[in-house]
Order: sequence, then structure tokens, then C-alpha cells
Amino acid sequence: MISGRLRKTTYQVDLGALRHNIQAQRAVLPAGSRIFAVVKANAYGHGLVPVAQAALAAGATGTCVAILDEALELRDNGIDALSLVLGITAVEYANVAAMAGVSLTVGSLDWLQEYHRLAQVNHWPKPLKVHLGIDTGMGRIGFTDIDQFKQAVELLKSPEFEFEGMFTHFATADSTDQTYFDKQVTRWQQFVDSLDELPPYVHMANSATGMWHRELITANTVRMGISMYGHNLSGCDIKETLGLQPVGTFKTAISFVKKLKAGESVSYGATYTAKEDEWLATLPVGYADGYPRSLTGFKVMVDGMDQMMVRLPKYYPVDTPVVLMGKSGQLELTPTDLAKQVGTINYEILTGINNRVHRVYKN
Ligand SMILES: *Cc1c(COP(=O)(O)O)cnc(C)c1O
Repeated sequence: MISGRLRKTTYQVDLGALRHNIQAQRAVLPAGSRIFAVVKANAYGHGLVPVAQAALAAGATGTCVAILDEALELRDNGIDALSLVLGITAVEYANVAAMAGVSLTVGSLDWLQEYHRLAQVNHWPKPLKVHLGIDTGMGRIGFTDIDQFKQAVELLKSPEFEFEGMFTHFATADSTDQTYFDKQVTRWQQFVDSLDELPPYVHMANSATGMWHRELITANTVRMGISMYGHNLSGCDIKETLGLQPVGTFKTAISFVKKLKAGESVSYGATYTAKEDEWLATLPVGYADGYPRSLTGFKVMVDGMDQMMVRLPKYYPVDTPVVLMGKSGQLELTPTDLAKQVGTINYEILTGINNRVHRVYKN
């Protein structure tokens, strides 16, 4: 089937850059460290299945997703590596995870007890793989109390479960002020020290921690998200430290060119009026693709030159390639550049590019 490919608006995904980024992180971690590739939200817009396959081939030990459906999509596509659902899954769906060998995050004793009861009543045959989430200050999900945590670990010894991992998540790992981060590390260490025996996967680091706080990682696995896609943290002015390469390029091509005479107006609401004769190009891309309408007046890259959207400094023929986001010659527009213009974060720009835009994989 060729539907979805009959247009020149595409999102190119450089899997070679993805491999480079994973290896760059791996190279600065202690020997024996592992990497989980965070592929939630359609792999931050880069395509769940191809990115997961490439990341695992590049040495990632497992994947992290946000919801059970994403993990099942990986299984449906023959990807059997460890896959951890980072969000809380409703207990009534948890047996689906157990049957598919998908690992779930559990953040409370209640949840475990309820699952335990259901598993016994229904004679669910396969143990559920569990990572205990620990809330050391993110304020989102997970255990906050060490006693409850230890009771959970006891319950995980029953045959309905497999205690596979424990983890926490940082709220301020990309901040220059390290006070809150240090508090979270201290709290995390108390949970780690409360156990005589640790589960196989102990993880605390997201991209920011893997970049800037490597020396403080007391865990054996890093969860790589935004850095795997080659980007610095959103709204973060500290330089990234890994030599990352951007993985995605959002591209289109001019579909129509005309000469606009001085005084003539364009587009809905006639929002723009030419002050002098100028060349105008139409680009076949817009908010229905996930390119925000609020980027009106922003720039794109044509022929490696920086220019205002649709107003051209000279004539270019139809089909001239245009880069909306990514690299073009020596120029680059990062997801952060777009995000700043719109008033959001780069994660939202990346995950917003929707399925109408065909993903093209190279390398
Ligand atoms: C999304 C997420 C990550 C990845 O975050 P990045 O900042 O993209 O590295 C890691 N851990 C958890 C729990 C997450 O939800």
C-alpha cells in the first residue's frame, strides 16, 4: 500500500544518529551499565517500532513506554526485549501485561495486594514483572514511605510476581541549582539501603541525569529519552555534554510559487500584505500535521538559507526542498527553537508531529 507516501512532507529519522547517541551515553557510564530506550509517545514522534528496534540493536537492554498499549504494540511487532510501562496501569489490565511479559510500574501497596488477590482467584498463570516506583520528590507516582516499600518487596516474593526493578525520577536534574536534586538522591539512597538484596534493574537517571550528574548515579541502568533523539533538555541553557546528533528532520517542499505585488495580501484574514514585489511560496504543511499554527511568522530553511516562512528572497521552483526543523547545510532549527517561538517545550513539538507525516528511516 502506498497511501501516506504520496506527499513530500516527511519526517526523516536518522537511525545512525540514534545509535551514535546511545553509544555516546554508554561510553561515559561505568562498565556493565545498561540503557533503557524511552520510546513513549511514538518514540517522541520518531516512530515506536523502528526506533525500539534500532535502539535495541544499538545495545539498549530494554524499552520504556508510558502506557500498556505501547508495550503491546512492541510485542505485536515481535519485539520481546524487556519493556517497562512507566505510568500506572489499571489493575484489571495487569494480567494482559503478565501474559505478554511486559513489566509494570507499581507505586502502592494497595495495587499489589489487589493484583495478588485477583491473580489467586483467577489462577493467572504467569508472574507479573514489577518495577517499584519510588517518589523521592517528583510528587507524581510511587512509594514515599520506606516501611510500605519494604512490605511491597516482601509481597513480591510470592509466585504471582517477579521483582524486576526499582526506580525513581528527578524533578530538577536539568537545573543549575542542585539542592533539590541532591535531596532526591539522598532519599533514593535510603530506599536502596533498606534492602538486603536489590532487584536486577535499579534505575534513577533520565537524560538530564545521564548528562550532568553521572557521578551521582547509584544505579545500574539509565533511561534515555530526549537525549537519545539528539536534543538537549527543554528550556535548558546548560550545554549538553555528550556530542549528541539530532535524529529527526521535518521536511517539505515548495508546492506553489508566485510573485506577490506590493500591496497584495495573503492567507486567511489577509494577515500579511507585501510592502514591495516579492516571491511567495506555499508549503504543503500545517497544523493538521502537528506544525503549530502559532509558528506563523517563524522561519524555515530553503536551500540552506534562513528566511521567513513563505516569503522568499528570490525565485525558487516548485519542489525545492524545505526544512522545517532539523539541519539544512550549516543551519539548524532545533525543536527547542520552535518550542521557544510557540511558548512550549521541545518534547511537545516532537510528539506533536502526527501520523499524517510519513516517517522515512535512513542508516
Ligand atoms: C519520560 C520519562 C523519562 C525520559 O525523560 P527524558 O527527560 O526524555 O530523558 C525517564 N523516566 C521517566 C519515569 C519518564 O516518565
